[in-house]
Amino acid sequence: MSDRRPYIAGNWKMHKTGREAEDFLWALLPQISGEDHAEVVICAPFTALVNLIDGSRGSRVKVAAQNMHQAEAGAFTGEVSAGMLSELDVRAVVLGHSERRQYFNETDAALAEKLPAALAAGIEPIFCVGETEAEREAGQMQDVLRRQVTEGLAGVPAGQLPAIVVAYEPVWAIGTGKVATTEQAQEAIAFIRELIAGIDAAAAPQVRILYGGSVKPDNAAELLSQPDIDGALIGGASLDPGDFAALVAAGDAA
Ligand code: PEP
Repeated sequence: MSDRRPYIAGNWKMHKTGREAEDFLWALLPQISGEDHAEVVICAPFTALVNLIDGSRGSRVKVAAQNMHQAEAGAFTGEVSAGMLSELDVRAVVLGHSERRQYFNETDAALAEKLPAALAAGIEPIFCVGETEAEREAGQMQDVLRRQVTEGLAGVPAGQLPAIVVAYEPVWAIGTGKVATTEQAQEAIAFIRELIAGIDAAAAPQVRILYGGSVKPDNAAELLSQPDIDGALIGGASLDPGDFAALVAAGDAA
Protein backbone atom coordinates (compact mmCIF):
# COMPACT_ATOMS: atom_id res chain seq x y z
CA MET A 1 0.00 0.00 0.00
CA SER A 2 1.12 3.55 -0.62
CA ASP A 3 -0.09 6.98 0.45
CA ARG A 4 -2.94 6.61 -2.05
CA ARG A 5 -6.18 6.42 -0.07
CA PRO A 6 -7.57 2.86 -0.02
CA TYR A 7 -10.76 2.43 -2.02
CA ILE A 8 -13.25 -0.30 -1.15
CA ALA A 9 -16.09 -0.56 -3.65
CA GLY A 10 -18.96 -3.03 -3.62
CA ASN A 11 -20.49 -3.89 -6.98
CA TRP A 12 -23.98 -5.19 -6.37
CA LYS A 13 -24.59 -6.03 -10.05
CA MET A 14 -28.33 -6.74 -10.55
CA HIS A 15 -29.05 -7.37 -6.87
CA LYS A 16 -31.15 -5.54 -4.29
CA THR A 17 -34.28 -3.45 -4.66
CA GLY A 18 -34.42 0.05 -3.21
CA ARG A 19 -36.03 -1.30 -0.03
CA GLU A 20 -33.33 -3.97 0.29
CA ALA A 21 -30.66 -1.31 -0.20
CA GLU A 22 -32.12 0.63 2.76
CA ASP A 23 -32.04 -2.50 4.92
CA PHE A 24 -28.42 -3.08 3.89
CA LEU A 25 -27.41 0.44 4.95
CA TRP A 26 -29.25 0.10 8.24
CA ALA A 27 -27.12 -2.98 8.99
CA LEU A 28 -23.86 -1.65 7.51
CA LEU A 29 -23.55 1.92 8.77
CA PRO A 30 -23.18 1.16 12.50
CA GLN A 31 -20.39 -1.30 11.61
CA ILE A 32 -18.28 1.20 9.65
CA SER A 33 -18.74 4.34 11.70
CA GLY A 34 -15.32 4.29 13.38
CA GLU A 35 -12.07 4.86 11.53
CA ASP A 36 -12.50 6.23 8.04
CA HIS A 37 -9.16 5.77 6.32
CA ALA A 38 -10.61 3.96 3.31
CA GLU A 39 -13.12 5.38 0.87
CA VAL A 40 -16.29 3.29 0.84
CA VAL A 41 -18.32 3.03 -2.34
CA ILE A 42 -21.47 1.08 -3.22
CA CYS A 43 -22.19 0.57 -6.92
CA ALA A 44 -25.91 -0.13 -7.14
CA PRO A 45 -28.62 -0.70 -9.74
CA PHE A 46 -30.20 2.54 -10.99
CA THR A 47 -33.44 1.81 -9.12
CA ALA A 48 -31.69 1.70 -5.72
CA LEU A 49 -29.56 4.84 -6.16
CA VAL A 50 -31.96 7.32 -4.56
CA ASN A 51 -32.64 5.03 -1.60
CA LEU A 52 -28.88 4.69 -1.04
CA ILE A 53 -28.15 8.38 -1.47
CA ASP A 54 -30.89 9.42 0.95
CA GLY A 55 -30.01 6.69 3.43
CA SER A 56 -26.26 7.34 3.43
CA ARG A 57 -26.21 11.16 3.76
CA GLY A 58 -23.74 12.19 6.45
CA SER A 59 -22.03 8.78 6.38
CA ARG A 60 -18.78 7.74 4.72
CA VAL A 61 -20.57 5.85 1.95
CA LYS A 62 -20.27 7.20 -1.58
CA VAL A 63 -22.91 5.99 -4.04
CA ALA A 64 -22.03 4.87 -7.56
CA ALA A 65 -23.91 3.65 -10.62
CA GLN A 66 -22.83 0.65 -12.69
CA ASN A 67 -23.03 2.13 -16.18
CA MET A 68 -24.01 5.27 -18.11
CA HIS A 69 -24.30 6.41 -21.72
CA GLN A 70 -21.68 8.71 -23.22
CA ALA A 71 -24.14 11.19 -24.80
CA GLU A 72 -25.69 14.06 -22.86
CA ALA A 73 -29.16 13.17 -24.15
CA GLY A 74 -30.70 11.63 -27.23
CA ALA A 75 -32.62 8.75 -28.76
CA PHE A 76 -31.03 5.99 -26.67
CA THR A 77 -33.94 4.08 -25.20
CA GLY A 78 -33.19 2.53 -21.85
CA GLU A 79 -30.00 4.52 -21.26
CA VAL A 80 -29.03 7.07 -18.60
CA SER A 81 -26.61 10.01 -18.97
CA ALA A 82 -23.90 11.36 -16.67
CA GLY A 83 -25.95 14.52 -16.07
CA MET A 84 -28.93 12.45 -14.95
CA LEU A 85 -26.71 10.63 -12.44
CA SER A 86 -24.98 13.73 -11.11
CA GLU A 87 -28.32 15.46 -10.52
CA LEU A 88 -29.16 12.59 -8.15
CA ASP A 89 -25.81 13.08 -6.33
CA VAL A 90 -24.31 9.91 -7.74
CA ARG A 91 -20.56 10.40 -7.27
CA ALA A 92 -18.97 7.54 -9.18
CA VAL A 93 -19.77 5.10 -11.97
CA VAL A 94 -18.42 1.70 -12.99
CA LEU A 95 -17.40 1.77 -16.66
CA GLY A 96 -16.24 -1.17 -18.75
CA HIS A 97 -17.10 -3.96 -16.33
CA SER A 98 -16.36 -7.29 -18.02
CA GLU A 99 -20.04 -8.28 -17.80
CA ARG A 100 -20.92 -5.20 -19.81
CA ARG A 101 -18.13 -5.89 -22.28
CA GLN A 102 -19.22 -9.53 -22.60
CA TYR A 103 -23.03 -9.33 -22.58
CA PHE A 104 -23.81 -5.77 -23.68
CA ASN A 105 -21.18 -5.14 -26.32
CA GLU A 106 -19.37 -2.40 -24.39
CA THR A 107 -16.44 -1.39 -26.60
CA ASP A 108 -13.15 0.37 -25.95
CA ALA A 109 -14.32 3.10 -28.34
CA ALA A 110 -17.49 3.73 -26.31
CA LEU A 111 -15.44 3.79 -23.12
CA ALA A 112 -13.14 6.40 -24.64
CA GLU A 113 -16.22 8.65 -24.75
CA LYS A 114 -17.82 7.53 -21.49
CA LEU A 115 -14.82 8.35 -19.28
CA PRO A 116 -14.59 12.03 -20.30
CA ALA A 117 -18.39 12.35 -20.15
CA ALA A 118 -18.39 11.12 -16.55
CA LEU A 119 -15.50 13.42 -15.58
CA ALA A 120 -17.20 16.42 -17.19
CA ALA A 121 -20.25 15.76 -15.01
CA GLY A 122 -18.11 15.52 -11.86
CA ILE A 123 -18.54 11.75 -11.58
CA GLU A 124 -15.56 9.56 -10.75
CA PRO A 125 -15.13 6.73 -13.26
CA ILE A 126 -14.24 3.27 -11.91
CA PHE A 127 -12.72 1.99 -15.13
CA CYS A 128 -12.52 -1.83 -15.36
CA VAL A 129 -10.00 -3.80 -17.40
CA GLY A 130 -8.92 -7.43 -17.40
CA GLU A 131 -8.14 -10.44 -19.53
CA THR A 132 -10.14 -13.65 -19.99
CA GLU A 133 -8.76 -17.04 -19.03
CA ALA A 134 -8.14 -17.93 -22.70
CA GLU A 135 -6.25 -14.66 -23.22
CA ARG A 136 -4.07 -15.29 -20.14
CA GLU A 137 -3.34 -18.85 -21.23
CA ALA A 138 -2.40 -17.64 -24.71
CA GLY A 139 0.12 -15.24 -23.14
CA GLN A 140 -1.92 -12.21 -24.23
CA MET A 141 -2.57 -10.61 -20.84
CA GLN A 142 -0.29 -7.63 -21.41
CA ASP A 143 -1.57 -7.04 -24.96
CA VAL A 144 -5.18 -7.06 -23.75
CA LEU A 145 -4.45 -4.69 -20.86
CA ARG A 146 -2.44 -2.41 -23.15
CA ARG A 147 -5.33 -2.18 -25.61
CA GLN A 148 -8.02 -1.68 -22.97
CA VAL A 149 -6.03 0.92 -21.01
CA THR A 150 -4.73 2.97 -23.93
CA GLU A 151 -7.97 2.92 -25.95
CA GLY A 152 -10.27 3.36 -22.94
CA LEU A 153 -8.28 6.31 -21.56
CA ALA A 154 -7.72 7.91 -24.97
CA GLY A 155 -10.40 10.58 -24.47
CA VAL A 156 -9.44 11.65 -20.95
CA PRO A 157 -8.31 15.30 -20.96
CA ALA A 158 -4.71 16.01 -19.97
CA GLY A 159 -4.27 16.27 -16.24
CA GLN A 160 -7.46 14.40 -15.35
CA LEU A 161 -6.08 10.86 -15.02
CA PRO A 162 -5.72 11.12 -11.21
CA ALA A 163 -9.50 11.58 -11.00
CA ILE A 164 -10.01 8.08 -12.41
CA VAL A 165 -10.00 4.85 -10.44
CA VAL A 166 -8.92 1.79 -12.43
CA ALA A 167 -10.00 -1.73 -11.50
CA TYR A 168 -8.00 -4.73 -12.69
CA GLU A 169 -10.47 -7.57 -12.84
CA PRO A 170 -9.23 -10.76 -14.51
CA VAL A 171 -12.42 -12.17 -16.02
CA TRP A 172 -11.54 -15.70 -14.87
CA ALA A 173 -11.59 -14.55 -11.24
CA ILE A 174 -14.94 -12.75 -11.26
CA GLY A 175 -17.66 -14.63 -9.42
CA THR A 176 -15.74 -17.89 -9.78
CA GLY A 177 -14.12 -18.16 -6.35
CA LYS A 178 -10.77 -18.37 -8.24
CA VAL A 179 -8.91 -15.40 -6.81
CA ALA A 180 -5.72 -14.28 -8.56
CA THR A 181 -2.65 -14.88 -6.44
CA THR A 182 -1.31 -11.76 -4.77
CA GLU A 183 1.69 -11.96 -7.10
CA GLN A 184 -0.51 -12.17 -10.22
CA ALA A 185 -2.64 -9.23 -9.05
CA GLN A 186 0.38 -7.10 -8.07
CA GLU A 187 2.16 -7.88 -11.36
CA ALA A 188 -0.82 -6.97 -13.54
CA ILE A 189 -1.57 -3.82 -11.57
CA ALA A 190 2.06 -2.67 -11.66
CA PHE A 191 1.91 -3.20 -15.44
CA ILE A 192 -1.25 -1.07 -15.67
CA ARG A 193 0.51 1.65 -13.68
CA GLU A 194 3.39 1.53 -16.20
CA LEU A 195 0.89 1.88 -19.04
CA ILE A 196 -0.62 4.93 -17.33
CA ALA A 197 2.88 6.34 -16.82
CA GLY A 198 3.34 6.04 -20.57
CA ILE A 199 0.40 8.42 -20.98
CA ASP A 200 1.19 10.76 -18.08
CA ALA A 201 4.22 9.98 -15.91
CA ALA A 202 3.24 12.45 -13.18
CA ALA A 203 -0.29 11.07 -12.89
CA ALA A 204 0.61 7.38 -12.61
CA PRO A 205 1.68 7.39 -8.94
CA GLN A 206 -1.56 9.16 -8.02
CA VAL A 207 -4.04 6.89 -9.81
CA ARG A 208 -5.71 4.34 -7.59
CA ILE A 209 -5.79 0.86 -9.07
CA LEU A 210 -8.02 -1.77 -7.50
CA TYR A 211 -8.04 -5.53 -7.74
CA GLY A 212 -11.37 -7.30 -8.35
CA GLY A 213 -12.20 -10.98 -8.59
CA SER A 214 -13.48 -13.14 -5.72
CA VAL A 215 -12.21 -10.77 -3.00
CA LYS A 216 -13.48 -11.91 0.40
CA PRO A 217 -12.84 -10.83 4.01
CA ASP A 218 -10.24 -13.59 4.38
CA ASN A 219 -8.07 -12.67 1.36
CA ALA A 220 -8.44 -8.87 1.29
CA ALA A 221 -5.68 -7.91 3.73
CA GLU A 222 -3.01 -9.80 1.80
CA LEU A 223 -4.08 -8.31 -1.53
CA LEU A 224 -4.20 -4.81 -0.04
CA SER A 225 -0.70 -5.21 1.40
CA GLN A 226 0.80 -5.14 -2.10
CA PRO A 227 2.57 -1.92 -3.10
CA ASP A 228 0.44 -1.21 -6.19
CA ILE A 229 -2.95 -2.53 -5.05
CA ASP A 230 -4.94 0.42 -3.75
CA GLY A 231 -8.24 -1.22 -2.98
CA ALA A 232 -10.80 -3.72 -4.17
CA LEU A 233 -13.89 -3.95 -6.34
CA ILE A 234 -16.03 -6.59 -4.73
CA GLY A 235 -19.05 -8.38 -6.17
CA GLY A 236 -20.50 -11.31 -4.21
CA ALA A 237 -19.03 -10.43 -0.81
CA SER A 238 -20.39 -6.88 -0.98
CA LEU A 239 -23.99 -8.11 -0.77
CA ASP A 240 -23.73 -9.03 2.88
CA PRO A 241 -23.37 -6.09 5.28
CA GLY A 242 -21.17 -8.05 7.70
CA ASP A 243 -18.77 -9.18 4.97
CA PHE A 244 -18.69 -5.73 3.41
CA ALA A 245 -17.96 -4.14 6.81
CA ALA A 246 -15.06 -6.60 7.23
CA LEU A 247 -13.74 -5.57 3.80
CA VAL A 248 -14.00 -1.90 4.78
CA ALA A 249 -12.05 -2.72 7.96
CA ALA A 250 -9.34 -4.33 5.78
CA GLY A 251 -9.22 -1.12 3.74
CA ASP A 252 -8.99 1.01 6.90
CA ALA A 253 -6.10 -1.12 8.13
CA ALA A 254 -4.21 -1.01 4.80
C1 PEP B 1 -17.21 -7.79 -9.68
O1 PEP B 1 -18.41 -7.85 -9.76
O2 PEP B 1 -16.62 -6.85 -10.18
C2 PEP B 1 -16.49 -8.87 -8.97
C3 PEP B 1 -15.20 -8.77 -8.83
O3 PEP B 1 -17.25 -9.93 -8.50
P1 PEP B 1 -16.79 -11.06 -7.44
O4 PEP B 1 -16.17 -10.32 -6.27
O5 PEP B 1 -18.07 -11.73 -7.05
O6 PEP B 1 -15.82 -11.94 -8.11
